[in-house]
Amino acid sequence: MILPCPIYRRTIASLALGFCLMGSTLRGAENISPLGQTPDWPALEMFQETMTRDEFVAALQNVYAPRGVAADLIQIEAETVRFLIDREGGKWFTLRFAPNEQSHTRVVTPCKRVVPSFPVIKGRELEGLKIALDPGHIGGKWAQMEERWFQVGDSQPIQEGDMTLLVAKLVAPKLRRLGATVSLVRSQNVPVTTKRPDDLREVAKAILRRAGVEQPRDDFAGPDDQEKDKTVRWQSEILFYRNSEIRERARIVNEEMKPDLVLCLHFNAESWDDPKSPRLIDRNHLHMLVNGSYLPPELAFDDVRFEMLRRLLSRTHEDELPLAEKSALALTRRTQLPPYEYTTENVT
Ligand SMILES: [Zn+2]
Repeated sequence: MILPCPIYRRTIASLALGFCLMGSTLRGAENISPLGQTPDWPALEMFQETMTRDEFVAALQNVYAPRGVAADLIQIEAETVRFLIDREGGKWFTLRFAPNEQSHTRVVTPCKRVVPSFPVIKGRELEGLKIALDPGHIGGKWAQMEERWFQVGDSQPIQEGDMTLLVAKLVAPKLRRLGATVSLVRSQNVPVTTKRPDDLREVAKAILRRAGVEQPRDDFAGPDDQEKDKTVRWQSEILFYRNSEIRERARIVNEEMKPDLVLCLHFNAESWDDPKSPRLIDRNHLHMLVNGSYLPPELAFDDVRFEMLRRLLSRTHEDELPLAEKSALALTRRTQLPPYEYTTENVT
């Protein structure tokens, strides 16, 4: 999407939404999103007195939680903010605000800030920048399972995962010519995760149980099966190609590649009139999604809430938003494509 005014959306957190049966995993007093990890709350100690109350409230309201967050999860006081870390034990993490902007303790951000090397040499504007390209989805023989496949008549099937990889391979040398070091999070149409749907059947059953499906069917009849989301196969497949795959990509980016910038490439499918008879349509538009705008059900997950707070306190948005705006404007100029108008409740 083109961003005269950026919209903020979660990527990983959307794992937990949109699928009414994608319940959480309750480990004791914890409420963890599917395949998520227990939050490392003490890691937030480094942010003591690094942000004023006004800065925190503005980032929360304008960027990360414009629809609010439950008062029993985050409590903003005059000089501190408290985050619930243990529901049963009623334990909270207390973060002290900086009294004013001058009194900030030096922030040690987990992410490296991008500092341009001056003077910028014409034609080498990206010198020193490490960019990771993440071609969305898996493609290949997995495209049908991940529901990123369709065929018009007898023509070659259209598979989003193949198209994103193709784009990444076209873009990478162009970025390298401008001086960037570029790596691809995946370079083939195969999963990055070592897990497969069969490895995730017990997690799938637990999710179904929590959603009230005690005796789930093992398999579904086909893509038109209205109750496919209540089957072990559908749940374990989505745990594989969405949760497990995306989490492994995030691990590779954060622990191995450690780039300055990650670009996740996707093609958004427009709907066609007859779902049984796909056809190509002329409507085209640009999307640019950046992290933020967490919904209250997402923030109910302890791990999602923790990651949101870590991003907020790291001031990630202070880099991401200007970068997204510049990129969106450049894409608009080059493609002349109109922005996509989101109409669903999930977007702010
Ligand atoms: Zn996609």
